[in-house]
Amino acid sequence: MKPPPSHPAPRHRRHVLRAALALTGAVALTGTGCSAGDPHRDHGSPAPGASAGPAPSPGAPGIGDPLMPLDGNGGYTVRRYTLDFDWQAPGTPFAAGTTISATATQALSRFDLDFAGNTLHKVTVDGAPATAERDGDELVVTPAKPIPRGGTFTVHVAYTADPTQRRHRDDAIREYGWVPTPDGTVVCAQPDGAKMIFPADDHPSLRAPFTFHITTPPGLSAVANGRLVERVREPGGRVQWTYDSEEPIAAQLVQLAIGKLTFVAGRGPGGRAVRDVVPDDLVADTEAERSLTPEHLAWLEQRLGPYPFRSYGVLVGDTDLPVALETQSLSLVPKDDLLGDRVDAERNLVHELTHHWTGDSVAVRRWSDLWLSEGHARFYERLYSEEHGGVSMDDAMRAAYEQHDQWRHDDGAPAEPTEPTLFKVMRYDGSALVLYALREKVGDETFGRIERAWVTEYRGRAAGTKDFVALASRVAGKDLTPFLTPWLYGPHTPPMPGHPDWHVDPVED
Ligand SMILES: [Zn+2]
Repeated sequence: MKPPPSHPAPRHRRHVLRAALALTGAVALTGTGCSAGDPHRDHGSPAPGASAGPAPSPGAPGIGDPLMPLDGNGGYTVRRYTLDFDWQAPGTPFAAGTTISATATQALSRFDLDFAGNTLHKVTVDGAPATAERDGDELVVTPAKPIPRGGTFTVHVAYTADPTQRRHRDDAIREYGWVPTPDGTVVCAQPDGAKMIFPADDHPSLRAPFTFHITTPPGLSAVANGRLVERVREPGGRVQWTYDSEEPIAAQLVQLAIGKLTFVAGRGPGGRAVRDVVPDDLVADTEAERSLTPEHLAWLEQRLGPYPFRSYGVLVGDTDLPVALETQSLSLVPKDDLLGDRVDAERNLVHELTHHWTGDSVAVRRWSDLWLSEGHARFYERLYSEEHGGVSMDDAMRAAYEQHDQWRHDDGAPAEPTEPTLFKVMRYDGSALVLYALREKVGDETFGRIERAWVTEYRGRAAGTKDFVALASRVAGKDLTPFLTPWLYGPHTPPMPGHPDWHVDPVED
């Protein structure tokens, strides 16, 4: 996420609920889209590998992240999400359904999903009605029969998606959930806003493949993470678009957009597919900046190794969303981030692209590890910018150094944010400064090897601060714990290696 510059394909089964909707006037989707296995299979028959054990008990309401304890859920792992959206018009509620196929990691008497906003209609588990109660941002689901440990099951949640229900955060994100555009929508699910869009197991360390079925009015297009699998024109002219994420995605990195959109196909280094999605009337005005993507990919691949996903592209948002988002394989960049100064535009583009290595591919294990995602994105954004007409890295880092104790006081040390208003300057320049200090300490060559090892060894996995310190120490051939610990934790910023004249401004209470 970047705040303003001031700081195997699934089987597809058409659902047939539009006719039912028309007949009943109801808004609940009843189809299950594509799902794993027979939705009416009795989950009381354990899947191979399931075992008898402790009596069924409730799954935990969260995975215990100290900053956001209710994010994610215990007792199961999601195998696939299938999202159905029968979209109508900007700012207008519409029928929606989410199908989650999952595997129980304990014998479950009940389990939670993360779900907020919207209007809940009906929940089924393996086709049988389940009891569902909302408790804050938790949706507590009690199936008709307990689910054995190791059992696979399918949950379907029918609801009315309601873009008029918005959430506010006090950090750079501000508004999240459905974000309207003049003729459609984009979404902002960071950091824990997926629950405003679909029921989810919503923590950045948890990911699963997604299938999206999005139905649009005539004349509009839909896009989502991954590749277009099918486009079917329905009687009456509405069109159902099916996308497959191709790779697992954390809920916060989901993107989907609807509008009068142009798909601009290109090629990156090595012939990699690049696909931008742009509001029709912004195609020409953003072409110069968007055409830089192959150059940005080549520059980052030189430093971090191969781009970790199959395709990439920029979704230009015709919105006043104050942030750009590293939504996986399809970064959302608001138009204002592209239409101004070219140096700033490139910083935004390189920032979100860098996240595809750090943040998307290497996910954060806990929210306190966010510095690893945003710090890296800011570090490479600044490094690129220095080489392409922007502020020098040394100048930017010296300015950050001078304010670092104040930021520690205000926002917590880089690896210990003090509150869930995460997206503060300490997670950006304040965390890039830690990487800068590490580079000064170990030298360019060793730093480069640490960085490539980090994104290679943890590709497609979640990793945390201890993992980074251990990997850096191993690659450097010396224990960097005594060096990195005061940089990452505690109230005072240590001296900057190689810059004895740099000083930290004292903190004012
Ligand atoms: Zn970012």
